[in-house]
Amino acid sequence: MKYLRFLKNNLAYFGVLNGETISKLDGDFLTGSPKLTGEVFNLSEAKLLPPVNPGQVIAIGLNYALHAEESGKSIPDEPMIFMVSPTAVVADGEEISLPNLEHRIDYEAELAIVIGKQAKNVKKENALDYVFGYTACNDVSDRNLQKKDGQFTRAKSFATFKPLGPVIETDLNPNNIEIKLSVNEEVKQHSNTNDLIHDIESLIENVTEVMMLNPGDIIITGTPSGVGPLKPGDKVEIEIEGIGKLTNRVVDGNKKAQPATEESQLA
Ligand code: MG
Repeated sequence: MKYLRFLKNNLAYFGVLNGETISKLDGDFLTGSPKLTGEVFNLSEAKLLPPVNPGQVIAIGLNYALHAEESGKSIPDEPMIFMVSPTAVVADGEEISLPNLEHRIDYEAELAIVIGKQAKNVKKENALDYVFGYTACNDVSDRNLQKKDGQFTRAKSFATFKPLGPVIETDLNPNNIEIKLSVNEEVKQHSNTNDLIHDIESLIENVTEVMMLNPGDIIITGTPSGVGPLKPGDKVEIEIEGIGKLTNRVVDGNKKAQPATEESQLA
């Protein structure tokens, strides 16, 4: 199933996507067992919201060997875990706003795990029982600040730096799916999650050894090789097999007010 959230007449709703059609649900797919209301909308007429508002965004660094190599880093023997502010999340179709144009700011295509139930000290064998589904994330990163700080939080937490979506797919083998990113229609990253150094189950085991995960939290699983810079005017698209396309345009953050995700009360 492909779950999403969308705005219609300034109200936020939950829904299921079938092709180009959204079927409205009567509640939150993450915390309840919502039913179809019978109302149907065209995808083209709805404004998508991020498919989840994560409480925590946990990120994994250097999880594809070729990306570690291009970054000049050795492959970590354990997953390299860091955290990013959830307020950086924006939806499919929203703008990525660059605040520091003199810095190198890169795209990073990543598969995001959406946690479905509270998880602590989970073992690999049971890890997938704690997953609600999967979506795409662009882990936009300011390389100048990443190098300067040594820590990644500032470099990766600017508003709009975590495009997420378009949908959460619940039926997916996360360890063998194609992941592709293009800028202005030119393919820049193309890999498969079977190249992950630490697979999905291992990541969940490692992260939950440290911290409690709650429904709606996400783990972004690292980016393949081919990272590169973004500039205002670029259109960046991530396509993940079974999930669909996450498309965002890049703007100069100094010229334009930063876009905020409009959210009003849930109907
Ligand atoms: Mg990343």
